[in-house]
Amino acid sequence: MAERWDVVVVGGGHAGCEAALAAARMGRRTLLLTGDLNSIARLSCNPSMGGPAKGHLVREIAALGGAMAHVTDRTAIQVRLLNSGKGPAVQALRAQLDKDLYPATMRDVLSAQAGLELRSAMVTGLLLDADLEAPAGGRVAGVVTANGEHVKARSVVVTTGTFLNGRMIAGERITPGGRVGEAPAEGLSAQFAAAGLRLGRLKTGTPPRVEARSIDFGRTQVQPGSRVPLWFSFEPPAAETWRVDRPAPWFPEVVTDGWRVQMPCYLVRTNGATHAAIRANLHRAPMFNGLIEGTGPRYCPSIEDKIVRFAEKDAHPLFLEPEGFTTSSVYVQGANTSLPEHVQDAMLRTIPALAAVEVLRYGYAVEYDFVPPDQTTSWLECKRLPGLFLAGQINGTSGYEEAAGQGLIAGINAALAGGRPGGSGPVPLNGARANGAAAALETTSSTAATLDRLTASNRLVLPRDLAYIGVMTDDLTTTEHREPYRLHTSRAEYRLLLRQDTAHFRLTPIGYRLGLIGREVHERTERQRDQVATVLKQVRSKGLGAAPELNARLRVAGLPPVTKSTMALAYLRRPEVGAVALAALGWDDVPDEVADHVLTEIKYEGFIARQAQAVARTRQLEHHRIPDRVDYQVLRGLRTEAQEKLSRFRPATVGQAARIAGVTPADISVLLVHLHAS
Ligand SMILES: Cc1cc2nc3c(=O)[nH]c(=O)nc-3n(C[C@H](O)[C@H](O)[C@H](O)COP(=O)(O)OP(=O)(O)OC[C@H]3O[C@@H](n4cnc5c(N)ncnc54)[C@H](O)[C@@H]3O)c2cc1C
Repeated sequence: MAERWDVVVVGGGHAGCEAALAAARMGRRTLLLTGDLNSIARLSCNPSMGGPAKGHLVREIAALGGAMAHVTDRTAIQVRLLNSGKGPAVQALRAQLDKDLYPATMRDVLSAQAGLELRSAMVTGLLLDADLEAPAGGRVAGVVTANGEHVKARSVVVTTGTFLNGRMIAGERITPGGRVGEAPAEGLSAQFAAAGLRLGRLKTGTPPRVEARSIDFGRTQVQPGSRVPLWFSFEPPAAETWRVDRPAPWFPEVVTDGWRVQMPCYLVRTNGATHAAIRANLHRAPMFNGLIEGTGPRYCPSIEDKIVRFAEKDAHPLFLEPEGFTTSSVYVQGANTSLPEHVQDAMLRTIPALAAVEVLRYGYAVEYDFVPPDQTTSWLECKRLPGLFLAGQINGTSGYEEAAGQGLIAGINAALAGGRPGGSGPVPLNGARANGAAAALETTSSTAATLDRLTASNRLVLPRDLAYIGVMTDDLTTTEHREPYRLHTSRAEYRLLLRQDTAHFRLTPIGYRLGLIGREVHERTERQRDQVATVLKQVRSKGLGAAPELNARLRVAGLPPVTKSTMALAYLRRPEVGAVALAALGWDDVPDEVADHVLTEIKYEGFIARQAQAVARTRQLEHHRIPDRVDYQVLRGLRTEAQEKLSRFRPATVGQAARIAGVTPADISVLLVHLHAS
């Protein structure tokens, strides 16, 4: 007899890990099936996490109860704050990771999760509900493994990354595979196609890894980590859980006496000779000689692509990134390539620091099938195959963080759909409280509206004004994608509302409601929200006089004096005044993160209020639901293009419909008239 689970997750990459953890933490009996248990959460490409938009995603995953931030904090070899000189909306954390410790730690987290079983198996097909079994569709009822086992499930989450019909390409050599050393996934693509799903083909690439002992580090520019502690998690993991090793002796400028052991990265640049070596071999580059058919990521081009597209540039930066505390392997960031091996040797050796470099693993490209996500709902369920959820690179995205964010949403929705009657359900809602400053109020009301919709529909859809994860799932499911999708801060309209420091205020009430966040963490978040609101209220009513004691305190803190009576609010708005001023002005028991948050709210109040107003204006459209039964083909007044696009994307709300390329404001008016009339 076939086994029966609530949720089966296929693939143990970054999407699969978050999906499986979320479903199990929500009380669902969950099985994770993956090709090789030793490759769970493997960092297929760069050994790093975060950066602009991606760092925001990791914080949001933490705020909702995911594991990526926690594991990153425990296994980082370096942490930095990028864009620290720019506005708070674009500041972003980035960590270098130990490429062995990260997967090992994630696997420990999964293994320790009650209700979750991990098993090594390749999935070759889907089981369709016996009653509905038909080539054109049906509800997904489980999976079939390569050795013929039938595993039944109420929901299935497929997160197979770059493995669907994967083939790896280096120079003239093409081998089947999902990534180096791992076989491709066969069977699933054919079944998707048989069920009427469109498939597309994409490619991505990875650079060479080189031997640290063959690098002349004296000819590189050192890039150190942050001197002050920085965390992706809202509560840093206990120091005894950090997986720190004594760093290997080959790397200079390692810091062992700071807040954590940190290894630097090293910057070098390509030059005319590098470019000449590449140009002379372009006919051998698979992406130029026709061997590669799939489209690659525009924002992460191969080195050969950069040389062609930016022919006027005489140098490109390359970052030499250690891959861990104890390995001598170094990742050459910026040098993605699928050129033949001897060309990779030649091009690297034109760089003075790499004149004698030894390559440990050559760069290669991988080409794979994806399921264009306009065939998926905003809660990541496949429209043609209900019960099937898709997340990660299979949806045409690129990057660990994008995959993990989708995995979390797909896992949550699979759990909501795959609950057993009488099974352990989500923790009851404690309520998202509305208080505090205008922006905090705005985001809280968006959180509350999302919780209301969750209660009404038993589905989690994060709106664009609430989370970068929401921006990503909305982009994926309402627009056409012909190249790998990557999240950027510029994709969000409400960047100031989606800052890294507000992720827990926006999302932790939702994680708590779903049972992904414990009561203690939820209450701590609410206490902090209250603290921000209280300090803001006090700041608004406090006046400052030019008192000598106050000016003495300001001088000690390196701040300008108060020369005439003014309001604390006006003083704190001055560009040269930072968060330390709050302590000097009397709020000396306020934690740093609260002080930073208060100061951002004060300095950007006008901009934040404007974004909040824009959210309120569009909210009506965003919340105006479109019933599933609408037949756009017979809707009089719609242009043919709009009929075609709306039928294809089947938006859940009028807001989503308005964002579909090819749907005009006039089409939306027609749609609204129809919705009001019906
Ligand atoms: C060569 C290469 C280069 C890359 N370059 C970049 C880059 O430059 N920038 C970037 O942002 N991202 C890059 N990536 C992508 C990055 O690795 C992915 O975006 C990310 O890992 C996707 O996560 P995922 O969970 O969707 O899939 P993956 O991390 O790929 O995990 C998929 C998992 O599914 C398992 N699996 C697959 N098929 C089956 C099956 N049928 N049955 C059971 N298990 C299965 C696999 O064993 C694997 O564990 C690259 C990936 C590769 C392979």
